[in-house]
Amino acid sequence: MRVHRPGFAALAVLAALSGGCGGAAPAPGGAGLPAPPGTGKGPLAGKVVVLDPGHNGGNAAHPEQVDRQVDIITKSKACNAVGFRTADGYEENAFAWSVTQHLRPLLETMGAQVVLTRSNDEGIGPCVTERAAIGNEARADAVVSIHGDSGKPSGHGFHVIVPGLIAGRNDEVIEPSRKLGLAIRDAYRAGTGMPYADYRGEDGLRSRTDLGGLNLSTRPVVFIECGNMRNAGDAAKMTDVAFRKRIAESLANGIKNYLTGA
Ligand SMILES: [Zn+2]
Repeated sequence: MRVHRPGFAALAVLAALSGGCGGAAPAPGGAGLPAPPGTGKGPLAGKVVVLDPGHNGGNAAHPEQVDRQVDIITKSKACNAVGFRTADGYEENAFAWSVTQHLRPLLETMGAQVVLTRSNDEGIGPCVTERAAIGNEARADAVVSIHGDSGKPSGHGFHVIVPGLIAGRNDEVIEPSRKLGLAIRDAYRAGTGMPYADYRGEDGLRSRTDLGGLNLSTRPVVFIECGNMRNAGDAAKMTDVAFRKRIAESLANGIKNYLTGA
């Protein structure tokens, strides 16, 4: 893991915007990855989507880096987190990475340019500050951060987290993020059959001001907690690759509906 360099995200995004597969070096430590350009055709032509698979596979072994405190406006918080796991040991970072890998080509087929906040599932971080910067510098039309939750084992279902108002800091992203959240919520329920979480949030939505990825974003942004990894039923679904493909298809539909105003 290299030390985070402020300019790196910008470089990654510039490489992505120039369509640079050839010249761009692999991202060190899992930071922002240049994306191949979208097809330029389809309903999402000209749109930039940033996908943020939560956590990273190397986080657990490197608490000295992951626990470093960063400023997320409302508080000081760890740079990143290890993430949760199912009772059988399926890790949240692996889940998020898998969903992202299925989701990315669906969006690209619709013409979007897709930028990831990490390039593999073996790295450390990047910090939430850097993840947010990648979306901002890409001038993303939508940023979606993918997670699995850890609620009480009896609770199940999914919910979408939207940014809460931090007056004077994120006013302009509140409304578009809520629209993005609603579009994703509706598509996710329709596509996966998962119910709204019965242990957290309301009607599948929750507003928070304690997440750096939300607080620091200047672009429309949501997190999705795709299910409760501590619930046996949700965990069985999330561990199943066929279900993760359904999740990806559902998220693609939600993102498309938001970006096309459907
Ligand atoms: Zn998470």
